[in-house]
Amino acid sequence: MGLNFSMNAPSNDAPDLFQNESDALEKARTIHAQIDANECRLALGELIGHFERLMRETRRLIGRSDRAEREMQALTHQLQYRATHDALTDVLNRSAVIERTSKALRAGQAVMILLDIDEFKRVNDDFGHPVGDAVILGIVDCLRRIVGERGVIGRVGGEEFTVLLPGYELARALQLADEMRIAIASLVFAAPVDRRITASFGVSFNPAGTDFDTAYGVADSALYKAKRGGRDRVEFADPSM
Ligand code: GH3
Ligand code: MG
Ligand code: MG
Repeated sequence: MGLNFSMNAPSNDAPDLFQNESDALEKARTIHAQIDANECRLALGELIGHFERLMRETRRLIGRSDRAEREMQALTHQLQYRATHDALTDVLNRSAVIERTSKALRAGQAVMILLDIDEFKRVNDDFGHPVGDAVILGIVDCLRRIVGERGVIGRVGGEEFTVLLPGYELARALQLADEMRIAIASLVFAAPVDRRITASFGVSFNPAGTDFDTAYGVADSALYKAKRGGRDRVEFADPSM
């Protein structure tokens, strides 16, 4: 007959996953050559048994490899999240802010609000670093509540945050910044914090095509103006004005 039962042998000395199947096939080849009905039946039975085992094992291996792939995807997602988010507050980190702002400004106009907590060094000095961290978390929560889906919050320095507002006009952004300022100043922190905490705001309006450094630099000079003007206030700058 023209049937060809040849099969490649494993190329090295590693244990052969298909040893049983190879043995059964070898037996089947021999019996096939002799065509003895009873032995043929036994050999086929063995062949069926080993092939059923082979299919079960293969299914199990495929299941395991699918699980490993899902775990790898989750890990990749986790690493990507950690690379783009601040570990303390979970808002975007500096490099992610730069990327997100640049992308938004390629697509259209955007307002950047830059805010810096006032006299924050004193909070650390008076109450300790962990209390300072808790204050930062309270302020970021407050920003999240106000900004919602309208913008993207990022941490660009220790106690310095950005709120990017894609598509925003300056007037609406200034209103929102003032809402944030008032909300932060109204926060009551747990003991031992015994004082109002305020923040100063610098706002830049940026037409489409502005680069990150310009958007940030203009907001930073407005922030400087707010600090010099007495803190707990919002200042703005429009590079086109
Ligand atoms: P100003 O009103 O001019 O901004 O005064 P300031 O004291 O806030 O500014 P300064 O730059 O002198 O101090 C900022 C402080 O923020 C110093 C630094 O130790 C603290 N800081 C930065 N990052 C963190 C942080 O993650 N946690 C805590 N607890 N403190 C931080
Ligand atoms: Mg500060
Ligand atoms: Mg600062």
